[in-house]
Amino acid sequence: MLVKGTKMFSIMRGRCPRCHEGAVFQERSLLKGKGYLSMHKRCDHCGLNYQPEPGFYFGASYVSYALTTAVSIAVFTVLFPFYRWDNEWVYIGGIGGAILLTVPFNFRLSRLIWLNFFFKYKTPEERAKGEQADFSDFRGEE
Ligand SMILES: [Zn+2]
Repeated sequence: MLVKGTKMFSIMRGRCPRCHEGAVFQERSLLKGKGYLSMHKRCDHCGLNYQPEPGFYFGASYVSYALTTAVSIAVFTVLFPFYRWDNEWVYIGGIGGAILLTVPFNFRLSRLIWLNFFFKYKTPEERAKGEQADFSDFRGEE
């Protein structure tokens, strides 16, 4: 499933969507603090600009919305057999807590998924040839 060259590899490993080598975020561990949510400006391996245009990640909020909905449905599905319709506060607390706990992961995941919508993997040979310029090759302004 996590085979290099697939979008799932880039998303789950937090790697550059074009070369699958460089890290997108500055820190791999949530325990390292702020760097967990900070992105590099470019891929340190292939130079892909992670901020191709201002407001690029606005669209990631829609991905984030979908992920949050998935978490909510998952928590509801786990809680429902135990609580049925007895107490709505169980669901409000359970779903709210789960959403808050998953915020940092949701943030990273939604940006990685959004990046992978626009950039596709290129083998080292394809990158070296520089053929078929597409949006993946857009490097933007400094
Ligand atoms: Zn790269």
